[in-house]
Amino acid sequence: MTKKFACKNIGLDCAFNAEAESEEQLMAKVSEHAKIAHGMAQIDEPTKAKIKAAITE
Ligand SMILES: [Zn+2]
Repeated sequence: MTKKFACKNIGLDCAFNAEAESEEQLMAKVSEHAKIAHGMAQIDEPTKAKIKAAITE
């Protein structure tokens, strides 16, 4: 099952979206994007929880 995430799913005004075969791979892509586009060197736990809740299949 493909996992999908879009920044707008968590209320960010950003057109980024990603998909991957597993939640782990998806989180890696999202982390990379968060670092580059949102200046988050590390995704904090509340944000991580938000992202995981917003992942669709
Ligand atoms: Zn974004």
